[in-house]
Amino acid sequence: MSSKPPIISIEGVTKRFGDHAAVDDVSLTINEGEFFALLGPSGCGKTTLLRMLAGFETPTEGTIRIDGKDTDGVPPNRRPVNMVFQSYAVFPHMSVADNVAYGLKIDGVAKAERDRRVEEALALVQLEGFGGRMPDQMSGGQRQRVALARALAKRPRVLLLDEPLSALDAKLREAMRFELASLQHKVGITFVMVTHDQDEALALATRCAVMERGRLIQLATPSDLYEFPNSRFVADFIGTVNMVEGTLKTDNPTEAIIATKELGDVYIDHAVLGNEGATLYLALRPEKISLFRRDGVVPPKLEDCPEGYNVVAGVIDHIAYLGSESVFKVILTNGRQMLVIRPNLTRWDQEDFVEEQPVWLSWHACAPAVLAG
Ligand code: ATP
Repeated sequence: MSSKPPIISIEGVTKRFGDHAAVDDVSLTINEGEFFALLGPSGCGKTTLLRMLAGFETPTEGTIRIDGKDTDGVPPNRRPVNMVFQSYAVFPHMSVADNVAYGLKIDGVAKAERDRRVEEALALVQLEGFGGRMPDQMSGGQRQRVALARALAKRPRVLLLDEPLSALDAKLREAMRFELASLQHKVGITFVMVTHDQDEALALATRCAVMERGRLIQLATPSDLYEFPNSRFVADFIGTVNMVEGTLKTDNPTEAIIATKELGDVYIDHAVLGNEGATLYLALRPEKISLFRRDGVVPPKLEDCPEGYNVVAGVIDHIAYLGSESVFKVILTNGRQMLVIRPNLTRWDQEDFVEEQPVWLSWHACAPAVLAG
């Protein structure tokens, strides 16, 4: 069986600045045509890793292959990659066309071919006819597209993007997200993006590498990162989570019970594969919890199917109305705080909840991710 070799292969790469390992023994591969995100908090080493792909930094240890070739000693301009910087740096004194042509000119591409490629790149980012403008006559989003066009004009095999949307305001950033995704689709080349913004990574990437303190923690699709985080760090970093500590009480192939101080015994609908008594963490997403008014003894909608559900009692402390959804802060009888998110559906679908109302919180046995201690 022969599958295509990865376009990028990072093998045991470490980068040290003095004693500090900014990137610590990272190995991963990126396939051709992927939109790949390097994601993590500030200082986790993602930019350093991207800069090593670009050739602006050299690994202290390990090997980076691009398109099958070892990049050791290969300068940035000889690699089949191009980088778009965070500040979407366009040269202010050059026209848009000259900005886009810049790299091609340095590479000695003849004028006629250059003009053709500039046209093509501007068309790709929907800036046909803007070649004669100066950057200060364009909006932030348009300047960002000029920076993209300049990188694409060189027809790299891989486009490296360093926090590409972070300089834009929230509304524009959202619009540019869709543009960036459709641009990648159109050109079909591999995009590798660095971001600390998990929403951006989840929305754009086919796969994300989550890093912490120089190390690769998890490499997965956006939905797997969210639904099946491999650690407390990832569960906490991606989205919002109710994290609850417990110990494994019963484990068999079809269900497990985790004893917790804060939620009592929690039923899980699959084996956990741990030693009984081992410390575990439940990562329960707020939107996977249902709320019911606590008028009766058991939640009314669960009476028919209580099996497989977990139920605890609490009181609504605060409701934050966010338009499309509301976030409920619920305090359990033992004082533990739980967050619950409910979509704000049409008005006649809504049950009215108010602050200080007694409620049941209920979640299915498949809802929490179970994480090692
Ligand atoms: P941010 O999102 O803040 O840019 P990052 O995850 O991209 O962070 P890096 O810029 O890769 O992180 O930095 C990782 C670590 O390496 C940080 O502790 C940083 O201070 C350090 N570092 C990066 N570049 C250098 C350098 N040239 N010299 C010394 N230390 C550096």
